[in-house]
Amino acid sequence: MLKILVCVKQVPDVDLMKMDPETGTLIRTGVPTILNPLDANALAAAIAVKEQYGAEITLITMGPPMAEGVLRECIACGADKAILVTDRAFGNADTLATSYSIVSAANCVDHYDLIFCGKETVDGATGQMGSQLAERFDAAQITSASLIKAIDEESRTVVVEREIESGIETLRACMPCLFTMEKTHYPARVPNLKGKMRAKKATIVTFTAEDIPDLDRSRIGDPGSPTKVPRMFPPVMPDPGIILDEGSTSATVEKLLSLIKEE
Ligand code: FAD
Repeated sequence: MLKILVCVKQVPDVDLMKMDPETGTLIRTGVPTILNPLDANALAAAIAVKEQYGAEITLITMGPPMAEGVLRECIACGADKAILVTDRAFGNADTLATSYSIVSAANCVDHYDLIFCGKETVDGATGQMGSQLAERFDAAQITSASLIKAIDEESRTVVVEREIESGIETLRACMPCLFTMEKTHYPARVPNLKGKMRAKKATIVTFTAEDIPDLDRSRIGDPGSPTKVPRMFPPVMPDPGIILDEGSTSATVEKLLSLIKEE
C-alpha cells in the first residue's frame, strides 16, 4: 500500500495579526491559529490518492504543543496517523533547521512514497520548505502541482499536471516524490462526525529532540538557523494618489491637464 506523508503547519490567522510599531515584531499573542490554507488542499490531494489507489496517510507538523490541534483537524478529514515534532530546542528555527528537524523525525517512523506540502504558508511564506524536504528525503519534487493524474505502483512512477503561463504542463516522476500543491483541483475537505470522533481518540506520536536518535543539535533551532531576521516592518504604502472623475471624459481630461499645468 502507498505510504503518504502530508506536512502541515499551524499558522496564525494573519488577517487578525498586528505589528508592534515599537519593536517591529508581529504580535502573535491572542491571535487565533488555523491550519495553513494550502496545506488543507495538499491534504485533500493526498486523500484523493488514498481513495483512488489505497494509501496510508501520515501527517507531520513541527510547532508548539498546541499544533496538535491542526493534526486532529486533519485526521478528522481522513488522515490516518500523526506526528508532532515539538521541543523548545526546535524553536526559533529557520527553514533549514525546520526541514532538518522534520525529516529527522519522519525517518524514525517510516519511509514514504509520496510527500505532500502546501505551496507556501501564509506566515513565513518563504516557499522553501518543499524543496528542502525533497532534498533531505532524497525524493523527486514537483512544485506548484495542480493535479495528480496517474500513479503506477508497479513502475513506481507518478504523472502530475501543473499550470504554467503558457498552459498545462504534464510531468512524470519516480517515487519517492514530493509535491507542493496548488488548490485548483483539491478543495479543502470538511470533516464529518465519524471523522471527528476518530480524531478525538487518535494517538498523536510526539517527538522531542531527545526522541530522535543521532539528531545533530547544531542543526536544529537557533544554532541551526543561518537565517537571521534583524527586524520586521510593515511595507510603506505608496501615496494613494487621486482619482479624477469629472462626469465625462473631456471634462476629466481638462481637469487632468490643468493639474499637470499647476504641477
Ligand atoms: P513554506 O516554505 O512557505 O511552507 C511550504 C510548506 O511546507 C507548507 O505549506 C507545509 O506543507 C510545509 N511546512 C512549512 N512549515 C512546516 C512545519 N513547521 N511543519 C510541517 N510542515 C511545514 N517559526 C516558528 O514556528 N517558530 C519559530 O521559533 C521560528 N523562528 C524563526 C526564526 C528565524 C530566524 C526565521 C527566518 C524563521 C523562523 N520561523 C519560526 C519561521 C519558520 O522558519 C518557518 O515558518 C518554517 O520553517 C516554515 O517556513 P515557511 O513558513 O516559509 O514555509
